[in-house]
Amino acid sequence: MLKDQDRIFTNIYGMHDRSLKGAQARGHWDGTAGLIGKGRDWIIQTMKDSGLRGRGGAGFPTGLKWSFMPKESDGRPAYLVVNADESEPGTCKDREIMRHDPHTLIEGCLIASFAMNANACYIYIRGEYIREREVLQAAIDEAYEAGLLGRDAAGSGWDFDLYLHHGAGAYICGEETALLESLEGKKGMPRMKPPFPAGAGLYGCPTTVNNVESIAVVPTILRRGADWFSGFGRQNNAGTKLFAISGHVNNPCVVEEAMSISFEELIETHCGGIRGGWDNLLAVIPGGSSVPCVRGEKMRDATMDFDYLRGELGSGLGTAAVIVMDKSTDIIKAIWRLSKFYKHESCGQCTPCREGTGWMMRVMDRLVRGEAEIEEIDMLFDVTKQVEGHTICALGDAAAWPIQGLIRNFRDEIEDRIRAQKTGRASAVAAE
Ligand code: NAD
Ligand code: SF4
Repeated sequence: MLKDQDRIFTNIYGMHDRSLKGAQARGHWDGTAGLIGKGRDWIIQTMKDSGLRGRGGAGFPTGLKWSFMPKESDGRPAYLVVNADESEPGTCKDREIMRHDPHTLIEGCLIASFAMNANACYIYIRGEYIREREVLQAAIDEAYEAGLLGRDAAGSGWDFDLYLHHGAGAYICGEETALLESLEGKKGMPRMKPPFPAGAGLYGCPTTVNNVESIAVVPTILRRGADWFSGFGRQNNAGTKLFAISGHVNNPCVVEEAMSISFEELIETHCGGIRGGWDNLLAVIPGGSSVPCVRGEKMRDATMDFDYLRGELGSGLGTAAVIVMDKSTDIIKAIWRLSKFYKHESCGQCTPCREGTGWMMRVMDRLVRGEAEIEEIDMLFDVTKQVEGHTICALGDAAAWPIQGLIRNFRDEIEDRIRAQKTGRASAVAAE
């Protein structure tokens, strides 16, 4: 279990004072100007050495992403955009940061922006996070008043402005380029990549889009050192990480733990175990709704990191939103519900996603009721393969993968339901 002194998020449970005074008492905003004074190259190299991989779901190395930004200004302003449009079903870790530890994020915005030559940063927060928006705005105002933002921010010699912008409830605006479109005042529709935002992002200028957690951990990593951070977890899966555990555990929670902790330890230490015991565990979605589910018995010894969950279990760490389902769950219906979600949230601009999400949802509709033919299971799987990798953004993959996970792991249950339905129908006809 991670020791208290190794936690970056010192107020994740909201037990302490979240104001600037409270944050400073817990070590935030300590020597910020000194960190900035060490220069861009030092900051970016330290982030690379720390091994931090993006905490928004994709796990792209953060320091490497920063290094794509132009070193010298080419006349265009550079921007940092923080993606706080946390909408992945099951995911609520960034919400806790903004609610209880807003100054970790604000300090991170200043340092990261400096490292990327950006004098302005936008935090794009999901529309539904109204209380979090209020808390964050109050913290930003406080930081301005204290001279930590604005001209000569925190006495660093760097002029820096931070703006909070709220979305209006579209899941697709969490996709980084749709977010940029939305920030520019347009309809949130993903752009083709490349160009990646570092080349042409907000208003066509060099931009880095980072997740809230990725930015909030920056000041502590710089203060405590790359070796300290990379000492948690294992190679290529370094650091501490917020896990959001929901569903059928005795104590659902958001907790910071060392990366690569075992699933069993995570659940036993922080969640009071599985509801009804380990024998009652049916399935787990380990990384938010976009990754495939895994059968419960395969999860108990699982290592909770990017490489194990993808390489060994064909799933993923994603946003580390761990959705636990016990045997009372209708797993076919649970995945059908996700299909419905993705169909609803598709922006509709590319055909495989627009048509495919509706098509998959309609077949799932029938599978839930068992009103399908056994052969349709393979056909559905084939359709998911036609959608996967053939769309502009990752929403197409996200719609395909949960269904693939269902079919791989719970094929017997789907077939049983179809057979039971057929037998039921046949008996009803015979009885007539
Ligand atoms: P991605 O792998 O396409 O990109 C990840 C990041 O790396 C992006 O910022 C991208 O610009 C950058 N990048 C990747 N390749 C690059 C290159 N060659 N050059 C420069 N930059 C490069 O993934 P994505 O579409 O940004 O994210 C998908 C993930 O988002 C999913 O796996 C899912 O887990 C997650 N997700 C999270 C939420 C949430 O609420 N946090 C919501 C939906 C999805
Ligand atoms: Fe829009 Fe779906 Fe295409 Fe993404 S994959 S751009 S959500 S239609």
